[in-house]
Amino acid sequence: MPIYEYRCGKCGSEFEQFRRIGDNDDDLKCPKCGKEKPERKLSATSPGGGSACGCGCGGGSKPSPPKMKIG
Ligand SMILES: [Zn+2]
Repeated sequence: MPIYEYRCGKCGSEFEQFRRIGDNDDDLKCPKCGKEKPERKLSATSPGGGSACGCGCGGGSKPSPPKMKIG
């Protein structure tokens, strides 16, 4: 069972949670302030494996462009 790291976008506290692959984060809450749906960090163990780069990009061929909103 992989351990994921989460970061609360409200109070900034970081914590770890055991999550099964496929679980969504809807029921997660920040243990400090109780804010729902904390941000999942990508520094946790990768469930896929076989990635050569190990940078968390998923071993894809091309990196995804950053989502920026201009205007
Ligand atoms: Zn919080």
